[in-house]
Amino acid sequence: MSKGKNNIKLSVFELRIKKDWCKGCQLCLVSCPQKYLELSSNLNKKGVNFIQGKEKNNCIGCGFCFFMCPEGCIEIYQK
Ligand code: SF4
Ligand code: SF4
Repeated sequence: MSKGKNNIKLSVFELRIKKDWCKGCQLCLVSCPQKYLELSSNLNKKGVNFIQGKEKNNCIGCGFCFFMCPEGCIEIYQK
């Protein structure tokens, strides 16, 4: 058996959120199995607290938030 390092490279996913489209419904937040999303304490142009990713990125790229968002705010990219 090899004593070398484990060479499995895990994918990293990046969310890009159009914050000014967000209406703060939180459908994405409750659908996320990783509990990665949170409401910002800041307001967007609509005057609502918008969705953002938490500081620690533990997104697995499942896409639930993308499919749940009625406003099309969320895009997911694989690095
Ligand atoms: S892609 Fe999945 S894990 Fe990542 S933020 Fe959306 S719901 Fe959460
Ligand atoms: S589902 Fe879309 S509109 Fe609703 S809080 Fe999430 S990003 Fe905002």
